[in-house]
Amino acid sequence: MTFIIQGIDIPSVPVAGSDALFPVRRIWCVGRNYADHAREMGSDPDREPPFFFAKPADSVVPGGGVLPFPSATKDLHHEVELVVAMGAGGVDISAERALGCVFGYAVGLDMTRRDLQAEAKRAGRPWALAKGFDQSCPISAIQPVSAVGHPSRGRLTLSVNGVLRQQGDLRDMIWSTAEAIAFLSRFVALAPGDLLMTGTPAGVGAVLAGDLLVGECEGIGRIEVRYT
Ligand code: MN
Repeated sequence: MTFIIQGIDIPSVPVAGSDALFPVRRIWCVGRNYADHAREMGSDPDREPPFFFAKPADSVVPGGGVLPFPSATKDLHHEVELVVAMGAGGVDISAERALGCVFGYAVGLDMTRRDLQAEAKRAGRPWALAKGFDQSCPISAIQPVSAVGHPSRGRLTLSVNGVLRQQGDLRDMIWSTAEAIAFLSRFVALAPGDLLMTGTPAGVGAVLAGDLLVGECEGIGRIEVRYT
């Protein structure tokens, strides 16, 4: 048997320190996982269980680079995040077992058409086109757990044109990586190749054509994007 359409690639991200590629199956994202960001978006960080949304696998942009400014938005926002790459999966994964399913970590940008998201929130509609547009997920090379362990603290920053916009620390996540994996696995069967973006600290803001974005996660990596 062959596919009726040829040449459809599996999206992938380089693995740091090797020639191997990590195949991207799905991209899950945690919403409002840092209290200061939840507050800046008008929510109470103490009351909400984690919630999730998704981006298409082919929205990944491995290594960042020069990107066209996205269509249909006048308010493109940056969100810098720790990205978890799953090497194993399952359902109802306990928080105790969750980190054993992780292949590695990267730093990524959950680029967001904030104007479309605000409109969707008002109308009670999905966030798909606000969050899951083409090239909306630039991410760095994936660092294997064998190289970096499981980061539970570390500076997470984003600058635009050299000016610091977002500054947080992984230890300030409301739901830890292990808890987020455990929670999500109650709703979907996680599988090798799944990515999980773990949320962003405060300081999200607008990006313009010509801007240079630099996201960094201490001990994990760096991602650069310039919009044209
Ligand atoms: Mn996000």
